[in-house]
Amino acid sequence: MEVFESSDDIYQILTEAISEGIVVVNDQQEIVATNQSLNTLFGYKKNELVGKPLNVLIPKDYHTDHGSHFSSFMEERSKRQMGHGRNLFGVKKDGTLFPVEAGLNPFSVYDKHYVMAIVIDISVRKKQEEEIQLLNSQLENKVTERTKELKKSISRLEAEVERRVKAENKIKESLRKERELNELKTKFLSLVSHEFKTPLSGIYTSATLAGKYTESEQQEKRDKHIKTIQNKVKYLNNILDDFLSIERMESGKVNYKFSEFPISKVINEVIYEANMLLKEGQNINYPLGIDNIVIYFDEKILELTLTNLVNNAIKYSPENTTIDIRVREEEDHLEIEIVDEGIGIPESEQKHIFNRYFRAENALLNQGTGIGLNIVKNHLENLRGTITFTSEENKGSTFKVTIPTTGNL
Ligand code: ADP
Repeated sequence: MEVFESSDDIYQILTEAISEGIVVVNDQQEIVATNQSLNTLFGYKKNELVGKPLNVLIPKDYHTDHGSHFSSFMEERSKRQMGHGRNLFGVKKDGTLFPVEAGLNPFSVYDKHYVMAIVIDISVRKKQEEEIQLLNSQLENKVTERTKELKKSISRLEAEVERRVKAENKIKESLRKERELNELKTKFLSLVSHEFKTPLSGIYTSATLAGKYTESEQQEKRDKHIKTIQNKVKYLNNILDDFLSIERMESGKVNYKFSEFPISKVINEVIYEANMLLKEGQNINYPLGIDNIVIYFDEKILELTLTNLVNNAIKYSPENTTIDIRVREEEDHLEIEIVDEGIGIPESEQKHIFNRYFRAENALLNQGTGIGLNIVKNHLENLRGTITFTSEENKGSTFKVTIPTTGNL
């Protein structure tokens, strides 16, 4: 090192051999010595820096800051690394900046204080760091892009899965419908063979017997048999109507027809038809105070509903019992109750009563198909009505129908 040249050649050789730049400044921040590496690093000739202020090696922007750091450092006088995590720059003679790392070592000679700074050019390292950062951010971008693509593929796959599940459900649904249709056909065949057999043989017998009464005074007897024939034909016709109803409902071919009509008209018709089915000593109580009630509803469906309920009440009640028909007007609906004193429905079976083909154990001695209530419930629900019941075995049943009286107009 130049200033110490004369005093110690070994020292000189050692400092010149070091590849890091070394600069020594006095307490006035004046450069008193540099080694060859530092000169080369900053682009100065030998000795050119000696006597110059340290600031020539520091970019202008850092001058003020650096001055105060230097003073406090001189007071502390302890070894340390410069910068503390900040990026440090050196400035070359030609003005170019380059990143450096500097370690500071204070020392004193003959009561004079100096600081030796060891300076390393870290351009290459910085550049590599920058390259690594660039590569990292490129990698991150790639990962983000791939993640996006992956998400897209996943949502495409999910949509595909959903589409397939829908298609599968559709197939399942049509299979279910087909199965139900087959079931219906089988039921129909077995019903035709069982349910039709008894009434048909009854019709045959009555017709044969009626044919035997040839005398004109035997008209009463003939009438009795004709009535039996009429009833049984009506019964068979009702079963066929039920099947047609199901078929229409299943294939979505029901067309409801709304009209305004007095409730008494439908009730009269239902009771008139039901009278022919009454057993010995049975009677139907006509509802009171209904003459002025006019509703807007599907008349055929109401008639089908009430016919089903009244016919059941007759069928499932013994002789000498009464069937009550009650009508009540509520604020937004009409309530119609059919009350009988019949066999009732066992509690354990009540929850199944509206299921298609379901028939309670205690009803099996009577003819029936288990279709009527199911159809009625479906129709009523399609028309915003309801059907419910309460029943006690061997005491009787009450079926309640509600018909909306607002919103249909
Ligand atoms: P079906 O009378 O042809 O069997 P429904 O659908 O009309 O078919 O009735 C289903 C079942 O509900 C009947 O089999 C019977 O068990 C029960 N049920 C319906 N109405 C009554 C009633 N008024 N009293 C007792 N049981 C009834």
